[in-house]
Amino acid sequence: MRQSQLFTKTRREAPKDEVSKNAALLIRAGFIHKEMAGVYSYLPMGLRVFKKIENIIREEMNALGGQEVELTALQDSEVWKKSGRWEDKVIDVWFKTELKSGSDVGLATTHEEPLTRLLTEYVSSYRDLPMAIYQFQTKFRNELRSKSGILRGREFVMKDLYSFSRTQEEHDEFYEKAKNAYRNIFNKVGIGQVTYLTKASGGSFSKYSHEFQTVTEAGEDTIYITDEDKKEAANQEIEKPDGGEAHKSIEVGNIFSLGTRFSEKLDLMFADEKGAKSPVIMGSYGIGLGRLMGTVVEVLSDDKGIVWPKEIAPFQVHLLSLTDEAKKLADEVYESLVSQGIEVLYDDREARAGEKFADADLMGIPTQVLIGAKALESKMLEVKDRATGNEKEMTTDNLITQLLTG
Ligand code: ATP
Ligand code: MG
Repeated sequence: MRQSQLFTKTRREAPKDEVSKNAALLIRAGFIHKEMAGVYSYLPMGLRVFKKIENIIREEMNALGGQEVELTALQDSEVWKKSGRWEDKVIDVWFKTELKSGSDVGLATTHEEPLTRLLTEYVSSYRDLPMAIYQFQTKFRNELRSKSGILRGREFVMKDLYSFSRTQEEHDEFYEKAKNAYRNIFNKVGIGQVTYLTKASGGSFSKYSHEFQTVTEAGEDTIYITDEDKKEAANQEIEKPDGGEAHKSIEVGNIFSLGTRFSEKLDLMFADEKGAKSPVIMGSYGIGLGRLMGTVVEVLSDDKGIVWPKEIAPFQVHLLSLTDEAKKLADEVYESLVSQGIEVLYDDREARAGEKFADADLMGIPTQVLIGAKALESKMLEVKDRATGNEKEMTTDNLITQLLTG
C-alpha cells in the first residue's frame, strides 16, 4: 500500500476529550475514529490489525471444534423475559427499543438466550452433543462510564463461544481446552507475559469463573498474582492472598461454566440412550476484539507511539523513501518486497524525512526500511527494528529472507 493513497493521516494531537492512551495513540496514528464517547470506527490500518486478531482467534476456536455462526444484534425480548434477563435490574447495560407494532426489542449484549433457543430446534438426542458454537458479533452495552477508549466500547465486537455438553465431566474437559486456546491467543498477540488466568466470581451461574487479566495501569480491575510461573492470579473480588501484591489489570477474556441455568429455562433438553431427558450443560467464553487490540497498545507502546507485534501488525514493513533522489530505489525495493508476498506500507509521500520517521514510530509497524542518501551510496538498506530501535544494514535479498523466515 502506498501511503500517499491512504486516506487517513496522522495527527499530532488526539481529540481533547480523549483521555485513554490506547484511543489517543490509535486516533493519532489514523487507525480508528471516535464517533462519540465509547463508539469508535475502524479505519483501514486499524481494520487490518482487527482482522488479524480475528483470524488468530478463529484458528483457535476452530481447533477447539467450534462452528462459526453470526447471530443477530436485534433481539426478541420474549426469549430474554423467559430467562429472566430482560429487566434492567438484571442486565443494567441494555439498549432497548420497540417495533412500530409496539413489541419490545433489545440490542444484543450477549447471546446465551437466542442461541439456546435456536438450538432447541436442532438438539434432541445425546448423539447431537457435545458441540461448540461461536461468532464474531457486535454487542451493544450502555456502559455507564466509557473513558477507556476501545477497552470499553458502547458498541464492540466480541468473540463469543458457547459449549453444549452432556455431562459435567465432558464440560470440564472442554473448559480446560478452552483455557489453553485462550493462552495461545494471548501469547500470539504479544501480551502472554503479562496476562494471568484469574479466578473470579462465578456471578449467578457457578461458584467461580476464570478471567484472563492483563496487567496494565489502564485496567479497571485489581488482581493478586498467586503464581508468577504459571501466570495465575485471583481477582480481588474473591480473595486477597496474604502478602499478595495488588496489580491493576484489564479483563481481556473470560470463561464461564453456566451449568443448566439457560437450558432449563429455555428447554434445551437431550435424551440419553435409554430415552431419559436431561438439560444440556453449557459454558460461555468471551473475548472483546477491540479490548484486546487496545490492551496490546497499552502494554507495548512507548513514548514514540505504538509497537505492534508482527503477528497483528497492519503491515510487516514500513518502507520510507527519504529524499527525491531515493525514490527510484525505494520504488524498486517496494516492488521486490510486494512480489514476495510481503505486506509493505510504502511512505512515498512528499514530506520531510523527520516527519516520516515520527509517523513510522507512531504507527508502529515492526520493521522500518529507510532509503535515503546512505542507501543510494552503499546499495544497502538501512533496516530498523521499531521495538528496539536497533539498525542494521542489509541487501534487499537478505531482508526478504529475514522477513520470510523470521
Ligand atoms: P467488564 O467487567 O470489563 O465490564 P464483562 O464482565 O462485562 O467485562 P463479559 O460480559 O463477560 O464481560 O464479556 C466478555 C468479554 O467481552 C470480556 O472479557 C471483554 O474482553 C469484552 N468486553 C466486555 N465489555 C466490553 C466493552 N464494553 N467493550 C469492549 N469489550 C468488552
Ligand atoms: Mg461489563
